[in-house]
Amino acid sequence: SAKERGKNSYHMYAPDLQQITSDKMFIQNELNRALALGELDLYYQPQISVGNGDIVGMEALLRWNHPERGLVSPDQFIAVAEETGLIVPIGEWVLQTACKQNKEWQNQGLPPIRMAVNLSARQFLKKDFTQMVADILEQTGLAPHYLELEITESTMIDVHRACSTLAELKQLGVHIAIDDFGTGYSSLSYLKEFPLNRLKIDRSFVRDMKQSPSNRAIVSTIIAMAHHLELRVIAEGVETDDELAFLQEHLCEEVQGYLFSKPLPLDEITTYMQQRKQKIS
Ligand code: C2E
Ligand code: MG
Ligand code: MG
Ligand code: MG
Repeated sequence: SAKERGKNSYHMYAPDLQQITSDKMFIQNELNRALALGELDLYYQPQISVGNGDIVGMEALLRWNHPERGLVSPDQFIAVAEETGLIVPIGEWVLQTACKQNKEWQNQGLPPIRMAVNLSARQFLKKDFTQMVADILEQTGLAPHYLELEITESTMIDVHRACSTLAELKQLGVHIAIDDFGTGYSSLSYLKEFPLNRLKIDRSFVRDMKQSPSNRAIVSTIIAMAHHLELRVIAEGVETDDELAFLQEHLCEEVQGYLFSKPLPLDEITTYMQQRKQKIS
C-alpha cells in the first residue's frame, strides 16, 4: 500500500540525525587540525576593469588541502565552521594571509590592487572585529584602501550591529562590498543608510543572460540602481564574451569570472599578474 511505501521511503530517505551530528563533529575535528597543520590555503581570482582590462583586484577564496580527500571547496566546510565558531580563527587566518600577500605583491613591484576577502556574519559581528582588522593592516603594512571586505545581505539583518561596525570600518578606510547581491531577503533600505562601496551582482543573474530577458532586466537594474546610489558594481561568474558585452554596454565597472581566470593557487596567479603587467607596459 501507499502507506507501507511511505514507511519504506521514510526509512530510506530520512536523515540519520546521529550520523549528521557525528559528521559535523568529525569535520570540526578535522578543521581544527587543518588550521593547526597549515592545510588551509588561499586561491586567488582576478577582478578586471571593464574599461581598460586591467587587473584591479583579487578575491581570496579559501581551499582545504585535505591529506586524503584532496582539495576541498568552501561550500563543503564553511557552514560547519560557522556553526562551530571555527570560522572566527579561520577567518582571521584568511584576512592575515590575504593582506600579507597583497603587500608582498606590492613589494615585488606589481601594480597595486585591492584584495577582496569574504566574511561570515559571525566574524563580522564580533565585538573586536574592527580592531582585529586594524591590527592586521598595521602588522602587514597594507594600506586600508587596498582591502575590501565582502559581506552578504544576511549579515545586515542585525541592522544596529552591522551599522556600527560598518561605520568603524569606513573610519579605518577599508572598502565594503555586498556579495551575492540580489539573492538575500533583506530590505533595500540598508543601501542608503550604510557606508558601502560596491555591489557584487550574484552569479545566478549573470548566468544565462543570453537566454533570459529577466536576468538581463535584473542585471541592468542593479547596475542602474547602484550608480544612482553612487556605488560601484562588479559582476561575478562572467564566463562568455556576450555576458561581458552586455555588462560593458550597461556600464558595469568590473567583472570577475572564468572568462578571465578561475581562482588559482599563489604561484599561478603571480605568474598571471606578471604576464599581464608585461602585456600592458
Ligand atoms: P563567493 O564569495 O560568491 O565566491 C564566488 C564563487 O564563484 C567562488 O566559489 C568562485 O570560484 C566561483 N566562481 C567564480 N567565477 C566563476 C565563474 O565564472 N563560473 C562559475 N561557475 N563559478 C565561478 P568558491 O571558491 O567555491 O567559493 C564559494 C563560496 O565560499 C564563496 O562564494 C564564499 O561565499 C565562500 N568563501 C570562500 N572563501 C571564504 C572565506 O575565506 N571566508 C568565508 N566566510 N567564506 C568564504
Ligand atoms: Mg565573495
Ligand atoms: Mg559571490
Ligand atoms: Mg556566492
